[in-house]
Amino acid sequence: MEEVQTLLDSRLADVRLEFGIARAEVAHAAIARAQAEQMSAIVATLREAREFPELYVGPTQIGPTAVEFAERAAIADLAVRLNLAESTVRAQACEADTLRTLTPMLWDSFRDGQVSAANASTVASLCIGLTDAACQTFEAELLHPAASLAPARFRAMARALRERLVAEPPTERHERAAEGRRVILEPDLDGMAWLHAYLPADAAQRVWHNLNRMAQRLGKAKGETRTMGQRRADVAVDLLAGVLGAEGAVGVTVGVTVPVLTLLGGDEPAILEGYGPIDAETARRLAAHAPSFYRILTHPVSGTVLDIDRSKYRPPADLKRMVGIKDVVCSFPGCGRPARECDIDHIVAWADDGTTAETNLASLCRHHHRLKHETNWTVECTQGVSTWTSPTGAIRTSDPPPF
Ligand SMILES: [Zn+2]
Repeated sequence: MEEVQTLLDSRLADVRLEFGIARAEVAHAAIARAQAEQMSAIVATLREAREFPELYVGPTQIGPTAVEFAERAAIADLAVRLNLAESTVRAQACEADTLRTLTPMLWDSFRDGQVSAANASTVASLCIGLTDAACQTFEAELLHPAASLAPARFRAMARALRERLVAEPPTERHERAAEGRRVILEPDLDGMAWLHAYLPADAAQRVWHNLNRMAQRLGKAKGETRTMGQRRADVAVDLLAGVLGAEGAVGVTVGVTVPVLTLLGGDEPAILEGYGPIDAETARRLAAHAPSFYRILTHPVSGTVLDIDRSKYRPPADLKRMVGIKDVVCSFPGCGRPARECDIDHIVAWADDGTTAETNLASLCRHHHRLKHETNWTVECTQGVSTWTSPTGAIRTSDPPPF
């Protein structure tokens, strides 16, 4: 009897296992279908916006740029409704267009749930720049693998195939890639951040050798205890922050907001402008004697600004800085552009009796600043909270500050 029960239990476990796997497979295909559906819907919405810009742009704003601004307003509208970045909405629209026109069979497999969104995205990003004939070969050879390979393996295969099919000579491809050179700052944990530079390989090698040479020289100094990696990082900071006086270097100042009790030895973290919370000890060091930083003292309970280092900043600049520090990023919902790269916008226009006071000023990136003025997006502000209404009636408040 006991044996029968054990056999039954194990058979039931088999059935449950198969059921679980089947559910996962069905859901996986449903995700791909839903993703394709979302992308199609975005394309359709943006087409409407371009065809009927008056849905997004007011009668006084209709002009030669109305179509462009209607599309921008529609993208922002979809982004806040779907809680996506505007760049994601735009990318999904592009991806759907590319797949539909250049690789229609693959687009159909994606819509049927046979190809994952990740693999479809790989195809869309890699078939741009191929000739029509190359694109057909690309699609034919990838149709089956797209439905059967995991994303990393599929991407590697698709990239190798593209290398064989691409007509553009390597020199020209490099020139195009080099136009995308840039430096990126990425916050990390524990008061640290990454500074990435995407550079032509020869430039990166020159930088690397120079850092090595200088770090090696420092290593010969008596009493030097830093590792090679630490010295290299320190040399890079000195060079890039202008301490070593490279040609064209300009001194920069960065705000550090310190609760007053922290300055006196407390543990409350301070805020480094453009980064976020940093530890109290670092904050005290910066506030006391680092020339490239200016300090803003805040009240221990309310957090309001008590004092700002006026020896370094004039009042209008102070105000701009305070708005920048209050907002951290652009005040449009979902936008992550740092406040220091934003315009300062009068929420209630100066012409409508809006004042130049901190409560009536908000950071808005150039893109969202223009959206506010050129389209039917509107904003209201009560007690420091901005509420945005989209041209189609979606209502969102500004995101809460991240700290
Ligand atoms: Zn913005």
